[in-house]
Parts: sequence; structure tokens; C-alpha cells
Amino acid sequence: MSTRPLSLVWFKKDLRVCDHRPLLEACQIGQTAAVYILEPEWIKSFEFESGQFLFLEKSLIDLKNDLRKLGIPLIIRYGSAITVFSELIKKWPFSFVFSHEETGVDWTFKRDLMMKSWFQSQSVQFTEYPQFGVKRGLKNRDHWLKHRNRILNRALHPEINQVWDSGQPAWTLIKKLELGHLPSLQDLGLPPSEKIFALKGGRTEAVKTLHSFFDSRGQNYFSSLSSPVTAFDGCSRISPYLSWGNLSITEVLSELENKRQSVIGTAREKKWTQNLSQFESRLWWHCHFIQKLESEPEIEFENVNRMFDGLRESEFEQKKFQAWCDGQTGFPIIDACMRALKQHGWINFRMRAMLMSFASYQLWLDWRPTARFLAKHFLDFEPGIHFSQAQMQSGVTGINAIRIYSPQKQTLDRDPNGEFVRKYCPELAKLDTCDLIAPHLTPPFVAASLDFKIGRDYPEPIVDPELSYHQAKEKIFLWHKKASVQAEAKKVLLKHGSRKARHFPTQKRPI
Ligand SMILES: Cc1cc2nc3c(=O)[nH]c(=O)nc-3n(C[C@H](O)[C@H](O)[C@H](O)COP(=O)(O)OP(=O)(O)OC[C@H]3O[C@@H](n4cnc5c(N)ncnc54)[C@H](O)[C@@H]3O)c2cc1C
Repeated sequence: MSTRPLSLVWFKKDLRVCDHRPLLEACQIGQTAAVYILEPEWIKSFEFESGQFLFLEKSLIDLKNDLRKLGIPLIIRYGSAITVFSELIKKWPFSFVFSHEETGVDWTFKRDLMMKSWFQSQSVQFTEYPQFGVKRGLKNRDHWLKHRNRILNRALHPEINQVWDSGQPAWTLIKKLELGHLPSLQDLGLPPSEKIFALKGGRTEAVKTLHSFFDSRGQNYFSSLSSPVTAFDGCSRISPYLSWGNLSITEVLSELENKRQSVIGTAREKKWTQNLSQFESRLWWHCHFIQKLESEPEIEFENVNRMFDGLRESEFEQKKFQAWCDGQTGFPIIDACMRALKQHGWINFRMRAMLMSFASYQLWLDWRPTARFLAKHFLDFEPGIHFSQAQMQSGVTGINAIRIYSPQKQTLDRDPNGEFVRKYCPELAKLDTCDLIAPHLTPPFVAASLDFKIGRDYPEPIVDPELSYHQAKEKIFLWHKKASVQAEAKKVLLKHGSRKARHFPTQKRPI
């Protein structure tokens, strides 16, 4: 039997073998096995939803197959990390654990701290590597861009089979250890998923989605971004694959560069180049936002600008929250977005921003419960992006422009023919397009001729559109003008602001 040390690769939200530094390092050191732990803490958390589980299930099938090709067994366990590692070390005395850094939510953060000290107590060397352009322990953003570029602008890590020395694979050592399998939703007593149109998880689907974007879909990227009618096809849709780590961001940047080179000198060069640049800038934002949570984990719970404490908390109305969650607010574009999100596990940026802004302004709901509700429905839930965006769209950072979306205007601009609203609110399908903005204002004789009754077929608007908009605008700008808010905003900017942009709250026309 080989005397080489035993290494474990702890897979979390990095479910691939390609461009995977922890796996590479483990293989270079010794006999390697991999482990994925389905943690009850996740299942009990606000971020869990059955659709997320199915995405994970598919991802693990691909991961297991890909690891098998490299001769690396994947151990799957259900339990808390500390219990699982305690069981494994007794049967398979590993000396090294390799993993990617995770900028997660509170429970993963605490788990990682606990595991770090447990590994130390067991004399196991635990090494983590960054997977995004995010720097641990950063105090402010002065040198962040350099860090980010260094992490992302690198060559891809070599394929594992190029370094695997064909020493006796870990299988022989692991014979006595059951590899285990993922329990099903049913085994866990969990309901089936309502995400009937969700993208499937796994490496194969991830690569297919990325390639279809660079092959053709991406050429209309920028013009398709904002409308929910065009965005499902025109956006890259890679976000869940980045969040679950089926794709590495460096790999995406590298494919992007290949595409850019391949169109040079062709008739489509200009069109592709413009669209690729837009796409690339968003990939950089990805890391910019995650860095905020890495530097200040409290923003999962606290206002980025603490001087906004007390803005909305005491005015929370459960009835409004429930109507928003159920897609029953009486504002068709809002309800259509919520229902589409529940079926697909995805909606485009502008509609996410509108959903969040509507909840925070017109319904005047605190961002914490609404952000948590959205998180479980986003297959691409990425805490750093999510909580930062939720706070930005709720006006509590003090450093971003205030945007109060008007659902009426968004309908006219983004769904002028009512295609999207009719698809996800079929009870409104028979109305004339002009009545889809405000079904409660459908002339009575038209409503009667269509046998359409507001209150029976579709709810009355839960708030007055004009009044709620103007009241919210007045309140938020009053708070923004406070000297304490402005003073705190300067500190926020120093800590989190990108060193490029201009950051002053500005009064916007309705958007
Ligand atoms: C309230 C709110 C919550 C959000 N929560 C999440 C989240 O949990 N996870 C998440 O990945 N994105 C989140 N976003 C950002 C954005 O909506 C999604 O990244 C995007 O819609 C994903 O679709 P795509 O992959 O087709 O994006 P594309 O437009 O094709 O962009 C490519 C990639 O760039 C990154 N990206 C795009 N837009 C942004 C952005 N505004 N900020 C940061 N990164 C961006 C994503 O990684 C995305 O996959 C949120 C936005 C809002 C307004």
C-alpha cells in the first residue's frame, strides 16, 4: 500500500473538476478523495428551496462522473460538517484538506471558523484558495482592483490528468468506507420543486449554456438585457453555474477572450465586440459585490449605512409582504415577475431590481425579509451580490442613486405588447393590452363583455400606485439629506466604493 499522505478535497459551491486549484493541489500531494456534505443547516436555512436541491443533485451526478474519470472517489454524506469529518478521519486518516474560500452567509461563515479550529486540533493541514476576484481580510478598496485582476487574469489551472502521477488511486484505501449517496427530496420529507422551467444543474448543462451564448445568443446581449420578453434568451444565464461553481469565472473570461479574438476581421466584429464588453463588465461587478460581503459579513443583516436603521422596520405589513410573495399585488408586471421567478428560478436584472424596489418603496417593506424570500427562489443565489443589490435597490447604502421603479412605466417600456404579463398572469390574458397596466381601471362595459371581475379574477392593487410612489420618494429623500446619513456614506464609500465610479444619491425621473 502506498505511504503517500491522504488528502481530501472538500467540495462546496465549486462543483467542477476543471480549473480547480484545491483538487490540483491535493492530487500533487497524495492519495486523493473528494467529499461533498449535504448539511442540515442549509436545508433549514432561509436560502433553501427544493429547486436549489435539484440543481445540486444534477451537479453532483456530473461531478461524481468527472472525478471517477480521474480515479478520484466522491464521498457524499448528509450531516453537519464536523460530524462528517470526525467520522471520516477515523476510517481514512487524512492529513490534508483542500477547499475553495466561500463568501457565504452567517451559518457557512461560522461553520468555516469552527472547521478551521477542528482541523487544527486534529493536526490536519487545511488550505483554502480564492475562487473569485475576492480578497480576504481587505480593509478598504484602495488596492482591490490589483488583487482582483491578479486572481482572475491568470492562466487556467492545468487539467488534473496532466499532473496525476498515476500512483495508486485512493480507491484501494477507501474500500472500507461507503461512498454514500445524496438522499432524495422525498427521503428528506421535502416538497417537490415548483421550478418547472428551471435550468438544470451540472457541468454538462453549464458548458452547453456558456457555449450557446458565445455561439449565437450573445450577439444581442445588450439589447435583450432589460426586457423580460427577450432576457431569458439574450442574457448569458450562466449565473447559477457561477454560483454553484459548475463554471469557473476565469474559465468564462478565457472563453470570452477566445470569442473576442475569433470575431476580429469578420463582418460581425463590431456587434460582437460591443456585446462582449458589456458582458465582461458584469463579470467584474460580480466580484466587486462579493468583496463587500467578504469585507463586512454583517451586511447580511445590517444596513450598509447604519444611519438608515429605523427607516422601515416598524412599518412592516405582513399582508403586503404576503401579496408580494404570492404574486398577487394587483400590479400585473410585478406579479408576472414573481410568478416567472418561481417557475424558472431566474429573472433578469432589471426585473429583480423592480421587484425589490417595489417591495421597499411602494409597499414600504424592510429589505431583510424580502431579500431572504428572493434568495431562496434565485437558483443563482450569491450572498455578496444579493444582499448588496437588495440594499442598493432599497436606498439604504447612501452611496448609490435612488431608483424607484414605476411598474406602469416598466410595463410600457419592457413589455409593451403584454406578452410577458399574459404568459405569467393568464387570468389577464383576455384583457386589451392597454388595460394590462391597470386592470382595475378596465372600463366596466369592457370588463363585463369579457366576464372579467376585479377582486374575483385578479386583485385590486394593494396600494395606490401614485400615492405610494410619492410618499416613498418623499420619505427616502428626507432620510438621505440627514447629516448623519451623509457622514456615514463617506465611510461606506471608503470601505466599499469602487475606486472608479461617482457616488452621490441623485434624484431620478420615474424609471
Ligand atoms: C435584488 C437583486 C438581487 C440579485 N441577486 C443576485 C444573486 O443572488 N446572484 C447573482 O448572481 N446575481 C444577482 N443579481 C444580479 C443580476 O441580476 C444577475 O447576476 C443576473 O441577472 C444573472 O443573469 P445572467 O447570468 O444571465 O447575467 P448576465 O447579464 O449574462 O451577466 C453575466 C454574469 O455577470 C454577473 N452579473 C450580472 N449582473 C450583475 C450585477 N448587477 N451585479 C453583480 N454581478 C452581475 C453575474 O455573475 C452574471 O452571471 C441580483 C440583482 C438584483 C437587482
